[in-house]
Amino acid sequence: MVVATNLEEITNHIAAACERSNRKKEDISLIAVTKYVTIERNKELVAAGIKDFGENRTEGFLEKYEAVGEDANWHFIGTLQSRKVKDIIDKVDMIHSLDRISLAKEINKRATEPIDCFVQVNVSEEETKHGLKVEEVEDFIKEIEKYDKVRVVGLMTMAPHVEDRELIRRVFRELATLRDTIRDKKYAHAPCHYLSMGMSNDYEIAIEEGATHIRIGSKLVGE
Ligand SMILES: *Cc1c(COP(=O)(O)O)cnc(C)c1O
Repeated sequence: MVVATNLEEITNHIAAACERSNRKKEDISLIAVTKYVTIERNKELVAAGIKDFGENRTEGFLEKYEAVGEDANWHFIGTLQSRKVKDIIDKVDMIHSLDRISLAKEINKRATEPIDCFVQVNVSEEETKHGLKVEEVEDFIKEIEKYDKVRVVGLMTMAPHVEDRELIRRVFRELATLRDTIRDKKYAHAPCHYLSMGMSNDYEIAIEEGATHIRIGSKLVGE
C-alpha cells in the first residue's frame, strides 16, 4: 500500500503547512491527479479515503470515471478542447482550466446546470503554459457574465518548474492577490472564493499562500 503511506506523509505536510500559516486543514481539498496511473491505483486511492480526482485529458477522465463512479468528485485540470466539452460536462464537478471565451461559450451551450470553473492564469507568463495573463483576468470574467452556466469559483495556476522557492511563492502570492481583488467585487456569477494551486513539488508553499485546492500527482500515486 504505497499510496496509503504517501497519503499519510502528504497529510502530515498539509497539516504542518496549515499550522505555519494559521489555516484549517479542512479548508484544503486534496485532489489526487491520476493521469500517470491505471484504474487499479484509483481504486487503491478510494480505499485510502480519497474523494477528489483530477485528470488532464478527456480520454483518461472518462476511463477513470467509469471505473470509480459518481461517488467521487471529478476535476478536469488540463487543456480542454471545445469539441470535447460535451463528453465530460455532465460528469465533471469542477473545471480548473477555463482559459478562453470560446470554451466558456461551449460549456454554457452543453451544460444543463451551472458548472463550477476556475479561470486558469499564466502568472509567470511562460510561453509553454496556458492561461490568461493577470491583467486580462478581470475583463475576461466580466465578459463571460452572459454565460449563465459558467460559475467562476476561483483562479488556478501552475508555478514555473524552478528551484527558486521564492519565485514560486511570488507566483502563488500574485494569484492570491488577484483572487482577493475579484472576490471583493462580488460579481454574482464569479464568487471567486477558491485558489487551485500547488502540485507535488510546491503544495506546501501554495498552502502557505492560500491554496484551497491542491492537485497532487507523482508524490501521491507515483509516476
Ligand atoms: C499533472 C498535473 C498536476 C500534478 O502534477 P505532479 O507534479 O505530478 O503533482 C497538477 N496540475 C496539473 C494541471 C497537471 O497537469
